[in-house]
Amino acid sequence: MTLTIGVDMGGTNMQAAVVDREGRVLARTRRDTPADDVEAAREVIVDVVCELARDHPVEAVGIGAAGFVDATRSTVLFAPNMAWRGEPLRTYVAAATGLPVVVENDANVAAWAEFRYGAARDADDSAIMVTIGTGIGGAIVFGGELIRGANGIAAELGHILAVSDGHPCGCGRNGCLEQYASGTALVRFAREGAKDDQAAAASLLELAGGEVDAITGPMVTSAAKAGDPVAREAFARVGYWLGLGLADLVHILDPQVLVVGGGVSEAGDLLLGPAREAYAQSFGARGRFPAAQIRPAEMLNSAGVIGAADLARLR
Ligand SMILES: [Zn+2]
Repeated sequence: MTLTIGVDMGGTNMQAAVVDREGRVLARTRRDTPADDVEAAREVIVDVVCELARDHPVEAVGIGAAGFVDATRSTVLFAPNMAWRGEPLRTYVAAATGLPVVVENDANVAAWAEFRYGAARDADDSAIMVTIGTGIGGAIVFGGELIRGANGIAAELGHILAVSDGHPCGCGRNGCLEQYASGTALVRFAREGAKDDQAAAASLLELAGGEVDAITGPMVTSAAKAGDPVAREAFARVGYWLGLGLADLVHILDPQVLVVGGGVSEAGDLLLGPAREAYAQSFGARGRFPAAQIRPAEMLNSAGVIGAADLARLR
């Protein structure tokens, strides 16, 4: 039984687990992430690996990190929510633990978990995963492998163009998909809708204490579930843009399965219903042909540790 450790390094907390070759978690541990302290962040990874390795005969370590990882899967080039800049994580953790280590971008790790054990486990060749959180994460599996690109930064699906000269994006460009199909966009649409029609947004505004600018993503989700028309319309707009983006990806890569994950996707059909509709309609001009199903992610909070552990096993 080959056991490996998967580490899921988030901006606020981290978890690590011992995982077997069937994708089962045998042991798990959690810590806060010292996001502003490079050395402490390394140390906490070494600490959890040593803790788990004490009781289990593990063979390798996979680390999923929220950031840009180089194509050799060694170095975190840049992590937006942490102090890592050119952090040689693989070398450090391997030397400190005596175990082989791979480092991978967190969106790639989650997609790999879905491809191997989750929503796309029946796909043997290809899947694309879009993670809808504050921003948009993306990952592409093709030919049974993660597509990392020449420089390790392939599948930045949030920054494909949705609207020419559209809303400004954090990446410096205007009109990226992330500005229309993310949690940030959901809140913006809901606030716009509430400003336009306070009466229609009554239940949403009640959650926000009457303040349009106090509306948050979770408020939009609960108001939409309760039937608030402005909150539902915000989901419909995000779903529309998501569906169009997914159709573009199908036109490029024609994968077997499309997986949608991330916090916003937990709203289920409020998001996926409009997404599927826009997706299907955008193929209209080309007539009827088979295209990948859009499925919700299944691995949820365990995707990071299971995907990272599996990538370490297959290194
Ligand atoms: Zn962008």
